[in-house]
Amino acid sequence: MRSAGANRLVLEARNVAFLADAMLGNIARKLRIFGFDTVYMAQAHDDEILKVGIKQDRVILTADKELFKRIVKVGARGVLVSGRSSELEDLVHILSKNGITSVGMNGIGSRCSVCNGHLEERTSDQVKNNDDCNNDNDNDDVIVPDKVIACHNQFFQCITCGKIYWEGGHLKRIRALVRNLDAKLIDRDCTTTSTSSSSRRDSSASKG
Ligand SMILES: [Zn+2]
Repeated sequence: MRSAGANRLVLEARNVAFLADAMLGNIARKLRIFGFDTVYMAQAHDDEILKVGIKQDRVILTADKELFKRIVKVGARGVLVSGRSSELEDLVHILSKNGITSVGMNGIGSRCSVCNGHLEERTSDQVKNNDDCNNDNDNDDVIVPDKVIACHNQFFQCITCGKIYWEGGHLKRIRALVRNLDAKLIDRDCTTTSTSSSSRRDSSASKG
């Protein structure tokens, strides 16, 4: 993870914001972990999704062909996600559609995967479980176990929901995923620029 200041700069450099519909919760979570501003609307009606997507200038991600048709019709930005063989392929598709040729590691640890809030750096003292203060706290996400405090010295906390993060085994998997993604994005970028624009890959982008 990087310092909160560096993370904020990375966030500002990410000029694409997403809106994922109900079927794409895992994709939304991954995009947030990579550092992309991603709203997830699990229970919203299509009208509401379109309204928020347009108002906030977000790329709407959907696996629903009917919703995608409406996105195209109203001139909103969107990517049809269904039909890929794996989550990795879906992510490659989404990112390449938006001109992103590299995810990189810099955005990791800048956003909360649960709520999309910004993360800020905390010391171990700040996240230590203080029994006097937390007797009535039933949210496990804001309590860091003593054994974690003992072997980590860098923590991040979501300023919106309070969830606390630290460098753990899952981040190794995320970094491996990013390396995979970036390799595929570079491949695709080379393929796209070396073939004609008739590539069928472009058929599901509504704009851009
Ligand atoms: Zn959060």
